[in-house]
Amino acid sequence: MIEFVNVTKIYQRGAKPALDHANIGIEKGEFVFLVGPSGSGKSTFLSLVLREERATSGKVMVLGRDVTRMSRWKVPQLRRQIGTVFQDFRLLEGKTVFDNVALALQVTGHSRSDIRSMVPEALSMVGLDGKEKRMPHELSGGEQQRVAIARAMVNRPQILLADEPTGNLDPTTSLGIMSLLDHINRTGTTVVMATHDDEIVDQMRMRVIELRDGSVIRDQDRGVYGGLR
Ligand code: ADP
Ligand code: ADP
Repeated sequence: MIEFVNVTKIYQRGAKPALDHANIGIEKGEFVFLVGPSGSGKSTFLSLVLREERATSGKVMVLGRDVTRMSRWKVPQLRRQIGTVFQDFRLLEGKTVFDNVALALQVTGHSRSDIRSMVPEALSMVGLDGKEKRMPHELSGGEQQRVAIARAMVNRPQILLADEPTGNLDPTTSLGIMSLLDHINRTGTTVVMATHDDEIVDQMRMRVIELRDGSVIRDQDRGVYGGLR
């Protein structure tokens, strides 16, 4: 699904690498936690997968394609196969829950009748049946993150990238979000989650890849958070 071969990313000439000869392979159906202190290269990894940034050297393979060589016009097609979720939810505040999810289907060219059935299905999957008409500010933080997850998953992407998805949520709400991500993973989606949440990593016991100064310093099956706290 994702393979980094000797990937180095240097943002500015002379700066130290954000990723330094990183080798990381993630297979279909895996659930992977990316951990490491702030500045260790987690976001850079996610940006390279999405081709928001381009590697300075090395090969970044995503869904069988070398995205470092991918032409610019093919990037939107790549991104449609990858769902993304962030710490700050990134919902459109002036739009209802329905419209926030529907927009993801409009950009992929779905018909109005498809949208009318697919949006409630996605909301049901995340436990938000009947919340279609709410505005984001009427929802709790956990509910807003569920809307963001419904939007990320409504096009059935093969990969879900989550950057600190529980960073703004209390521990109980975070656990609910994790059981949802676990469910999504069990139904076949590859999930990569960057996090500082040691309790969650220690509870889930999934694969843990730890970065430090742009290098992989640990890659552990059924791992724990470890590292800096
Ligand atoms: P993390 O997500 O683990 O906090 P990042 O990937 O954001 O780490 O950062 C890795 C390094 O790259 C840091 O030194 C950071 O300052 C630098 N960096 C990240 N993004 C940029 C950018 N857009 N321009 C310049 N430097 C950046
Ligand atoms: P939590 O205690 O988990 O943060 P809230 O108390 O914010 O949750 O919300 C509880 C329920 O009330 C949710 O289903 C939410 O959608 C609904 N709700 C919250 N605020 C509003 C509002 N201003 N208008 C309508 N419904 C709301």
